[in-house]
Amino acid sequence: MVRIVIAIVLLMCSQLLAWGGKEHVQLTRIAAQGLMDDPATPEDMKAWLRQIIPEQRDLAGERDFLLNASVATDLNRSGGGVLYWVMVPDDLAQNAPRDSKVEPFGMHERLMHFIELELFVAGNKQRKFAANLSAKPLLEDIRRDWRDERYIQAGYLPFAVETSYQRLVLAIRENRLEPADGVGGRDDDSAMRWAGYLAHYLQDNTQPHHSTVDFKSRSYFNDRRDAPDIHKELEWRMVDDERESFPELRSAYWDVLASALREFEDPISQTDPWLASVEVSFISYDCLPLIGEAAVAAATRNPDRTWHFDTARFFHHTGEVGGVKMSVLQMKARQQAWAVKRTQAMWLAAWREGR
Ligand SMILES: [Zn+2]
Repeated sequence: MVRIVIAIVLLMCSQLLAWGGKEHVQLTRIAAQGLMDDPATPEDMKAWLRQIIPEQRDLAGERDFLLNASVATDLNRSGGGVLYWVMVPDDLAQNAPRDSKVEPFGMHERLMHFIELELFVAGNKQRKFAANLSAKPLLEDIRRDWRDERYIQAGYLPFAVETSYQRLVLAIRENRLEPADGVGGRDDDSAMRWAGYLAHYLQDNTQPHHSTVDFKSRSYFNDRRDAPDIHKELEWRMVDDERESFPELRSAYWDVLASALREFEDPISQTDPWLASVEVSFISYDCLPLIGEAAVAAATRNPDRTWHFDTARFFHHTGEVGGVKMSVLQMKARQQAWAVKRTQAMWLAAWREGR
């Protein structure tokens, strides 16, 4: 009973959703297009990708989408096919009944999108974020056992990556490439569906806030409850807020994203999906001080004590990540280019394993 109450309380105050719907759709479509354009991709895989991406876009089309499209949380604006399924995990996280469970974990979908690393630190250190990164655990502190009760609070992201990868491999092996009722099919167990789920969790993995208990960077505002929501600032607000369209910032972002897509190389050589996911969280964690410092630089108090947040100033703030100087805009581009490359690498691995 106590455990159930704790789980409910944690659900109410736990993590947000990660990269917005528009971002998941775009990162997934770019990943698929990159694989289709690559001579090294198996021909039968390319044919499958063409089936599950109803609308293809070149880079000019992607730029236009980033600057002008709005998706928000509306599944009807996903574009359909695998782009529908890449949005579903967030839809379920928000809208699935409280008592609905993801098996085998027996936990709500909302807990599948993150892993709060500080909760695994050994010894009697405080399980709180520290700006000098001293509260980061060691890789070997993360136990590969989803029954470990710390996951009820910390979140199951590496396990969600692993199970959706396994389901994708199985669907490919059993030749369930598309839904039995067509690409518009909804309730199915096809490779199209699991490719969408897998892409979603792989992409959430590179959002640095999804690796920490401090998922809104509130520690940089002395943990005040009224602090600005840095989580949404880092992800969807700049690219998909109906009240403010940030045309200059979006245009600048496209340029750095396009160059990160060309230049950034995935540092993960680990082929095990669970271990790779934990490694991505560990590396992404090191972006948190830059995000927090930029947030403080961009936030000022209005005379009525509410916050004014200067989003452009936030993204142009420059600091260091792992000894490398970069702006928040460049850091976000790197993390999103990485999300594209993780999606490509794991889809390709699943295809090879399933065939
Ligand atoms: Zn998510």
